Amino acid sequence: MKVTTRFAPSPTGSLHLGGARTALFNWLFAKNKGGEFLLRFEDTDIERSNISYCEQIEEALQWLGIDYPKPTFQTQKISRYKDIAENLLKNGYAYYCNCSQERLQSIRTQQIAQGTLPKYDGQCRNKSILDEGSVIRIKLPSEQHSLSFNDTIRGELTILQEQLDDFIILRSNGIPTFNFAVIIDDNDQEISHVIRGDDHITNTFKQKAISQLAKLNWPSFTHVPLLLDQQGKVLSKRDAASNVLQYRENGFTSEALNNYLLRLGWSKNNLEYITMKEAIRHFSLSGLNRSACKIDIDKLSWLNKQHIKNIPPKEIAMRLIHHKEETIEWLASVITLYQGRVETLKELEEIIQSFLYPQLLFNEDELLFCKDNNTLLINLIKQINNLVDWNKQCLKDILTTYFEQFDTNLSSKFFPILRIFLIGRSHGPSLESIMEILGKVKTIKRLELMGEYS
Ligand code: GLU
Repeated sequence: MKVTTRFAPSPTGSLHLGGARTALFNWLFAKNKGGEFLLRFEDTDIERSNISYCEQIEEALQWLGIDYPKPTFQTQKISRYKDIAENLLKNGYAYYCNCSQERLQSIRTQQIAQGTLPKYDGQCRNKSILDEGSVIRIKLPSEQHSLSFNDTIRGELTILQEQLDDFIILRSNGIPTFNFAVIIDDNDQEISHVIRGDDHITNTFKQKAISQLAKLNWPSFTHVPLLLDQQGKVLSKRDAASNVLQYRENGFTSEALNNYLLRLGWSKNNLEYITMKEAIRHFSLSGLNRSACKIDIDKLSWLNKQHIKNIPPKEIAMRLIHHKEETIEWLASVITLYQGRVETLKELEEIIQSFLYPQLLFNEDELLFCKDNNTLLINLIKQINNLVDWNKQCLKDILTTYFEQFDTNLSSKFFPILRIFLIGRSHGPSLESIMEILGKVKTIKRLELMGEYS
């Protein structure tokens, strides 16, 4: 059987972590099976849908490396939904309903007051109304008592039909409701597997009812537990910590975010670090967990550090868009020094910035130290200036020999200050590696500034 999966966001917001995880699971499953992954915009909520959200969702998916053919839009196939609704009407599986909002509201209020489940009472079920302004409702078969479907994670799920009502499938303006459009599209696009959040389980029952009556294909369904925020509440779309592009902005790599999202709900041998190549090879529905997962930023940061360590420095350099004034090779040499030390690309950006334009900020002790040790520095600069072969080893030799004559305490005080003059930071890689990257001219020029602090 050909595997076809899909990610079907409603473009009413940008891509959030939960959505990205759903997309990733569907994409990995399709890749693992040599199948196809589709992107479908469920834009039938005309008022809340916005094309700019489609663009943001696509930008985020592309950043994550999730590829797909040209996306489809539900609003571009309105007539198809209308045809199916008319077919259902013709076969007696749907009916027009012209109940007013006031009436619907009033029966709802009554039902709530009586403690019964609010649902449509079926008043129009047996009328043959063909009003222009009518909605179309599904006509759930009265002889059927329950609806069931098999969920890959949870097994057989059943609902009593009385829990449902004759819900609307087509609005009076001809726009389909969510459940109606979804299952028609899954049929038309020959979707074989649906993986989505378990907040959709009630929808799945409604989709099952439609698929039975309209004789549509029934894909395999896997409902994954929702993501929880750090406080344990269901992560909402509107949560700022949820926007995927914000993670890119904050210096996370797509490799780490994918790895992190994958591990939020899927596991294999407790493997934490995993590349997308390996994930494609190993992904299976049986690895999906049953329990909800909490967002853990520390874990994401840890993974980011591991992934940054393994990305070729030149590739990282190309991702750092703000430093076009330097060559890729130069940027890569700075990056190489810091891989394994930084948790985000943003930190790398800041480090490069300080290599380019160090900010000289000292505390009082450090200033005093500069004053007291100025002659020492002038002599050091002279030696460094005489160096012919500007490389790490020679620089290290000079520094070691020079400081050997003093007690060790001096170099441990001196080095952080030298580092501040060179790159505006007291901590970091060895002085010789920093000097090698800066080159002779910059190194001497920056160290000479110490004179101004004496
Ligand atoms: N459009 C739905 C949403 O954004 C997804 C529907 C589905 O996956 O079937 O939540």
